[in-house]
Amino acid sequence: MRTMRRVLSVLCAAGMTVGLLAGCSAQTEGTSAPGIPESSETSGTETGEVQGGYMPGTYTGSGTGMHGTVTATITVDENSITNVELDVSGEDADRVGESAAQTLASQIMEAQSADIDGVSGATVTSNGVMAAVEDALNQAAGNGGDGQMTAGTYRATAHGAKHDLTVEVTVSENAIESVNVVESDDSPYVSEAAIGILPQRIIDNQSVAVDAVTGATMTSSAILSAVSDCLVQAGANLGDWSKETSVTQGEDVTVDVLVVGGGTSGSTAALAAKTDSSLSDTDSGLDVMIVEANGYIGGNMAICGGYIASYFGTSLNEETGHSWTADTLVDSLEDLYPQYSEVINDNLMRNLAELTDDTLNGLMNRGFYLTGSDAYLASSSRLVAGEAAPYTSSSVIADPQTGERSGDNGYDIYGGGAFFGQTMTDILNDAGVEIRYETTATSLIMDGNTCTGVAVQDHEHSYNIYADKIILATGYAGFDDETISMYLPEVYGNVIGAETAANQSFAQKQITGLGGEVNDVHEAISDGHIVLGYNSTLAHYGEEHLLYSSMPGMFVNTEGQRFADETDRGAGMAMTIAGLGGKCYMIFDSTHEGVRFYDFLASNGLAWSADTLEELAEQIGVPAENLTATVEQYNTDYENGGDTVFGTAAENMSPVLTGPYYAVQVNAISTGGIDIAVYTDENLNVTLTNGGEPIENLYACGGAGSGNCFTLLNIGLGSHVVGCMTSGVYAGSMAREAILGE
Ligand SMILES: Cc1cc2nc3c(=O)[nH]c(=O)nc-3n(C[C@H](O)[C@H](O)[C@H](O)COP(=O)(O)OP(=O)(O)OC[C@H]3O[C@@H](n4cnc5c(N)ncnc54)[C@H](O)[C@@H]3O)c2cc1C
Repeated sequence: MRTMRRVLSVLCAAGMTVGLLAGCSAQTEGTSAPGIPESSETSGTETGEVQGGYMPGTYTGSGTGMHGTVTATITVDENSITNVELDVSGEDADRVGESAAQTLASQIMEAQSADIDGVSGATVTSNGVMAAVEDALNQAAGNGGDGQMTAGTYRATAHGAKHDLTVEVTVSENAIESVNVVESDDSPYVSEAAIGILPQRIIDNQSVAVDAVTGATMTSSAILSAVSDCLVQAGANLGDWSKETSVTQGEDVTVDVLVVGGGTSGSTAALAAKTDSSLSDTDSGLDVMIVEANGYIGGNMAICGGYIASYFGTSLNEETGHSWTADTLVDSLEDLYPQYSEVINDNLMRNLAELTDDTLNGLMNRGFYLTGSDAYLASSSRLVAGEAAPYTSSSVIADPQTGERSGDNGYDIYGGGAFFGQTMTDILNDAGVEIRYETTATSLIMDGNTCTGVAVQDHEHSYNIYADKIILATGYAGFDDETISMYLPEVYGNVIGAETAANQSFAQKQITGLGGEVNDVHEAISDGHIVLGYNSTLAHYGEEHLLYSSMPGMFVNTEGQRFADETDRGAGMAMTIAGLGGKCYMIFDSTHEGVRFYDFLASNGLAWSADTLEELAEQIGVPAENLTATVEQYNTDYENGGDTVFGTAAENMSPVLTGPYYAVQVNAISTGGIDIAVYTDENLNVTLTNGGEPIENLYACGGAGSGNCFTLLNIGLGSHVVGCMTSGVYAGSMAREAILGE
């Protein structure tokens, strides 16, 4: 898919305005930048001061997209852009298909500059294209060349994961001297990885074509885009500052225990290997290393909602006064899921359940961000047949200043996960676990039936890490194209994967590659975490998610017709939308509470507004006669006390009466991976098949290793995190004990 070449050409429409170079916020100190009027302060779409002065010809500029370089080849006459060709062939075809690239090219022609809105769901590519256009236009304006810049300090702003980010770049005539992110509202912790790592990488390489920080791609893209803008302001020819880095052979290393993946389970696996099963202050004396693909520790825990269950034996249980025992917990799960008796490993389940209190207490003793006062009594229908049974969980306070919880205003990645990730990093550092960030395992090294190590790659080197014991903690199966086509092509074809941890199903694919089998429990357990959402970036986080998840309103398909009772906004509705091609529209009028989200969603290309329903239909590309007829029927039904087509009660309806009218695009989204896991024995030692012989030295934990204990991890809010943490402690302890002969 990614090799498809998508080069588009759009010819200049007659009479188009002539525009200036791209316009992120520009504030220069020292000499004013070429092409930007002195003391100008321009921002976003307000830029566009008319200025010609191009040298007629064709110029090619480059920028950094999601998967590498994107280029823009621009033809100009003296005053205008007459043609643009975009090469985004390295990008993800699902997100940047023909029409997205066409939209970008058309936006450039219309704006006559790089100052365009970009395409929703393809922010990184859009930013790269904007940088490439800026670069080409700068060349056309005769700026830069020979790596020369006008010395000074420049400022620019670009859109990050959800919010704008501003950088300040100081350059001399021939070097990038400093890069500082001076403002960023993107999610704490995760974006900090990009902010902490990327500026130095740009300086070290004297290039804006460096790799994004894995797991913080959107923030990275914004930094690269804004730095590119600063260089353009300084008169640089971006081509001179886009040297690509190459990966060379690095030195192999040997450790005692290697943990692949530093997410929820990998963190605790490494900690238990370095200490003991209670995560006490003991040092096992082993060399323990984590290789983590992201630029930060925590994996999905770092972006999770902040819920952790505690079944017994912690201050959380004291707070709620409710406890299970390990045995009653496992007994009830086994009673409830007799159909899985062939796969569920009773001993493993009991071993894990018994460790939950030690795991949580051990982490809390080490300063993990979790307190009894956050506890509440949750309930789950996955514990006792036919009943919503109680258990203790915690909803971590996301903002200690206000006491606000992450779930209070819609599920948000500004939630407890950031605190989890940060405190887990501190704990691992204190314990003496070595962490290699942005280091991705590429394959297992096998010697017959024994795993001896893992081949890895970082931004500079590829090398092997040999270890006595290797623990796979790479998470549930990912939502990448390869995983879906390998395991579940028919189910998830129209579902957008949210930007979560860099989970590419390493464990699952490696075992499949070795001729083994994986356990697919996605339908039984979670339906692939399919929910309603916006796009891969906004997913279903943030306050704006309240619009489609809980506010009354009418949903229509791409034919402008209703297709379901809008009361159900859960997985059922999401899967219906997936079956309809993946998207639908929520339609409402000017009296609707959701209007307050319009500006934000429109700026992300997800909302439209018009004075008439016919105009609105045209904007979203649905047949106007269908939309007006659907609205008419809906309004009549509302007045008569309820929907006659799908049975929606009047209180869940919101008549569409008073213009202007609004449409918001809603998609089927997967927020996590897919529940596909490798099989293990009762010690979490990986087996090629269910109940088969273990692979020597190879363990798996967390989502990746849940093939024979998945029911324990899927009880309800908070059970994933505690289940993965506990299975990490168990795998780490098994590895430690095997090496030390305990
Ligand atoms: C948005 C969201 C919210 C959630 N909220 C909650 C919640 O509130 N409570 C709850 O209990 N559960 C929640 N979950 C689920 C929970 O976070 C996960 O089930 C849990 O984190 C899985 O842990 P894990 O260790 O198996 O994998 P992860 O935490 O996903 O860790 C896997 C790690 O492996 C790394 N990795 C992958 N491949 C490689 C490779 N080849 N080389 C090196 N590293 C690699 C990844 O970068 C990642 O850091 C949420 C999940 C999501 C996505």
